Amino acid sequence: MRAVYIEEFGGPEVLKFGELPTPKPGPREVLVRVKAVSVNHLDIWVRRGVYRDLPFPHVLGSDIAGIVEEVGPGVRNVRVGDRVVVNPGTSCGVCENCLRGMDNLCKDYKILGEHVWGGYAEYVKVPDANILPYPEGLKWEEAAAVPLTFLTAWHAVVTKGKIEQGEKVLVMSGGGGVGSAAVQIAKLFNAYVITTVGSDWKVERAYALGADLVVNWRKEDLERAIREKVGRVDLVIDHTGQQHLQRLINLTRWGGRVVIYGATSGYKAQVDLRHIFYRQVSLIGSTMGSKGEMFRILKLVEDRKLKPVIYRVLPLKQAQEAHRLLEGFSPFGKVVMTVG
Ligand SMILES: [Zn+2]
Repeated sequence: MRAVYIEEFGGPEVLKFGELPTPKPGPREVLVRVKAVSVNHLDIWVRRGVYRDLPFPHVLGSDIAGIVEEVGPGVRNVRVGDRVVVNPGTSCGVCENCLRGMDNLCKDYKILGEHVWGGYAEYVKVPDANILPYPEGLKWEEAAAVPLTFLTAWHAVVTKGKIEQGEKVLVMSGGGGVGSAAVQIAKLFNAYVITTVGSDWKVERAYALGADLVVNWRKEDLERAIREKVGRVDLVIDHTGQQHLQRLINLTRWGGRVVIYGATSGYKAQVDLRHIFYRQVSLIGSTMGSKGEMFRILKLVEDRKLKPVIYRVLPLKQAQEAHRLLEGFSPFGKVVMTVG
């Protein structure tokens, strides 16, 4: 099969386009012919070498939409020819966490394209438990833009953040994949949503997404701007890490919650613990989400209550360009690649 793969870690130039053996589905596995795969920041971390012991060649790509090409023995939930979306997280399926619906806490939890071959290829092999129904009416590139970002956002806002109707919610980076999903999800709960952007051209787009207040953090003092206009917030959804964390805690109301799903500016944040015990602000960690959560998300996408935001669509052959776009330019919305 044709694929984009890496044989070493490094910049976008290590992404090679060539031939790799087509995977063969085993028991309870499904071979999917990839129609579209979206690019995530996770792909960039993996390409740069965040997991040093990854065997080569490795195929990136967590977010996949396509057609079932072949099914292994024992697969009963899909048939050859079905259009599907692939759930990016795999787990053992039999441990306590898996059976409690918390499979993102499974000790065998893996992400397609991160620990196992993903979707930058004509074909990808996935467990049958990772096959999701295709949201009717969506283009391939729209469907491929949904899973990882919306699952991460849903788990952070709803499951971990326990959003309530009408709360004030601050979503960092409303133009990012997860951010643009989190803004929309918070609006489903009639929240007053504040979001941040790093360039003026993104301000209008963030409002169009449904945000009630957009702050360009490069031009305005984030903490002061929000405190003056809105006061403290109930819930913060953050991935920025050490650069803003203390300000975000300051901005959270007494008894409020800060959900952290990443740390793009660095891991070593300093926190004034008085806000944690005295003001009783909760810091909550979140990564990905459970497989079961994806069904609700895809239904809301099908009903057009949630919309993937796409910045650019490129063919798989231009994977290097796709990575450069996401890495250097910081687009508004997702970069998606079409395959075949
Ligand atoms: Zn498990």
